Amino acid sequence: MANSAVVQRSAKANPFEIAQAQLDKAAAKLGLDPAIHAVLREPMREFHVSLPVRMDDGAIEVFRGFRVQYNDARGPNKGGIRWHPDETIDTVRALAAWMTWKTAVVDIPLGGGKGGVICNPKRLSTTEMERLARAYVDAIGRAIGPEKDIPAPDVYTTPQIMGWMMDEYSKLTGVYSPGVITGKPLSIGGSEGRGDATARGGACTVREAARHLEIDLTKATCAIQGFGNAGQFAALLFSQLLGCRIVAVSDTRGGVYSEQGIDPEAVVKYKMDNGSVINFPGTRPISNEELLELSVDVLAPSALENVITEDNAPNIRARIIAELANGPTTPEADEILHRKGVFVIPDFLCNAGGVTVSYFEWVQNEMAYYWGEEEVHEKLDRKMTKAFHDVLEVCLRENVDMRTAAYMVAIQRVAEAMKARGWV
Ligand code: GLU
Repeated sequence: MANSAVVQRSAKANPFEIAQAQLDKAAAKLGLDPAIHAVLREPMREFHVSLPVRMDDGAIEVFRGFRVQYNDARGPNKGGIRWHPDETIDTVRALAAWMTWKTAVVDIPLGGGKGGVICNPKRLSTTEMERLARAYVDAIGRAIGPEKDIPAPDVYTTPQIMGWMMDEYSKLTGVYSPGVITGKPLSIGGSEGRGDATARGGACTVREAARHLEIDLTKATCAIQGFGNAGQFAALLFSQLLGCRIVAVSDTRGGVYSEQGIDPEAVVKYKMDNGSVINFPGTRPISNEELLELSVDVLAPSALENVITEDNAPNIRARIIAELANGPTTPEADEILHRKGVFVIPDFLCNAGGVTVSYFEWVQNEMAYYWGEEEVHEKLDRKMTKAFHDVLEVCLRENVDMRTAAYMVAIQRVAEAMKARGWV
């Protein structure tokens, strides 16, 4: 009963209002120029498109799509495209805002954007997905480009979808343009290390957080909520690189728990074969809500927004929350976690590894010269470690929570670029 109330309330929270509230809090702390603040509260530009797509049965279905270009003061807009049945323009706006802070906090020369299509990819065939991907690029093609706005994968979009989109854009322009989109397959200009980059970057921030908090990660337990790209690689890498014991994982259908630990490789394979982690041998079932409240050292929400709210935050027992998802924690929950002394590695810092390697991919595309995996890993680690300590330093100096500190670092960088360009 209580759990379903949590789910209902979370579904109603407006992510863009949350993003604006987070910005306002940091702006007040910074004493931000009101004109800069006003610009940063709204997207600079957005596109709403209708996408007529011929389905396999011959009928036309019309999908709704969005692309929000939030701020490009520091470089071309950058950010993924989500395909989700519950997509809304306000979710895309929030995600585009968070991309702006994400690229700034890791200090890469890009702005923030996001795209979305309201659809249920689980019900689309491969050929329908291809036609939808191409229709999306036909609709927004003039607004994107390697020097304008560079999309990438996000929830339920894949390297193959990026490949179709790159192809459609190259056909539209008549110019081979791998740099228009990142997260592509390796054969057409994808980067080594992009596949697991979000989780790998997250692992760097968890390692640094544990160092700061003096937690021995080789004795630590970890629970992962959400088992898509970020969650699956987090299970593998938090175990391999950090030595954590993964005690619980979950997906949309439910979760599994084992005090002794879950073999990450086996559970990833099981998910691939069975479509879900539920009933994974040697574990007991656990709900998503229960997973979030486990007494673990590291909790990694790795699915969608608004899962940690004022309703369940008082029950959270994790020492570190590594936000691999975008927007998993509401502002009310943030206050509660801060008071409880839970160390939150905020989303746009924790999950910035994905866009960081996307940036590397774009750089490699532009110079048509490719790096090896080790070089990518090393460059990613350097970026993430520096970003973590930039934020931690402000957190300690200003006595604010890590999210506000991350906002302060990011806002200052974007504001400086806006001033230098003479916008304000
Ligand atoms: N969708 C990812 C994110 O939210 C990656 C974006 C990108 O690579 O541009 O950070």
